Amino acid sequence: MTGLLAGKNVIVTGGSRGIGRGVVLGLARAGATVVTCYRTEGEHVETLRRELKDLGGDHRLVRADVTEVADVERLVAEARDTGRPLHGLVHNAGVISHVPFADLTPQEWHRVVDTSLTAAFLVLNKALPLMGEGSSVVAVGSRVATVGIPLRAHYTAAKAGLVGFMRSLTKELSPRGIRVNVVAPGMIETEEAEKLSPEQRQAYAQRYAQIIAMGRFGRPEDVADAVAFLLSDRAAYITGETLNVDGGI
Ligand code: NDP
Repeated sequence: MTGLLAGKNVIVTGGSRGIGRGVVLGLARAGATVVTCYRTEGEHVETLRRELKDLGGDHRLVRADVTEVADVERLVAEARDTGRPLHGLVHNAGVISHVPFADLTPQEWHRVVDTSLTAAFLVLNKALPLMGEGSSVVAVGSRVATVGIPLRAHYTAAKAGLVGFMRSLTKELSPRGIRVNVVAPGMIETEEAEKLSPEQRQAYAQRYAQIIAMGRFGRPEDVADAVAFLLSDRAAYITGETLNVDGGI
């Protein structure tokens, strides 16, 4: 992927951990200048800051909650301040939540839907004036949006909503030369998975080995490569698509 995104300015939401972190580093290694955000300060943010500095370039990490309009405006202003046009927007921020539907509160519904779906609208709405011919938007959805899964009605609704949102936008944004796509990860091994006990990991592995053709979880880098491709000019004739990155579920 080296050089694939050379000179391109890209916003990535939720870049401090997990898949987002992998995407930020992957895009930076592909030559992009990345502006990313997170909510919670910590050593993990400082580590990422150092890693990006080592890669070189004008990358920026901003504390901004994507569910807050003023924070989104600050994030987009940061991208504008780089002085370069915005080539790409990756809406990755999301919260994973497991609640039986009978116990689902309006607050939890809103927390999940606001972060995955409403924030995609907020960020793109504010960033669009910076984007022009050849720009590309990628939303990180989820394979479960089409499979369906218990305890995740709110989460799957938000992720399925992203697909409809992006498909409609293809009709409005194609005349402006802007492409919009979804990357739908399956089971991706992030820091969260590392918190599982050895017994839990084994139970998960056995369960998912039956449904993942490749017999393993994915890595953030696998998602990052798919995102980099869709952002790049190599995907110039691809829009309105959902690319599953799931090892063959
Ligand atoms: P993590 O919880 O590991 O990381 C989420 C990232 O998003 C963190 O950097 C977090 O920052 C940030 N974030 C969350 N809420 C906000 C917010 N309101 N404003 C700004 N930043 C925010 O999640 P994953 O890496 O596992 O998931 C990333 C995306 O991929 C999500 O959209 C998720 O739904 C999707 N996905 C994940 C899968 C998986 O197997 N892991 C499978 C399919 C889809 P902070 O820590 O500061 O809150």
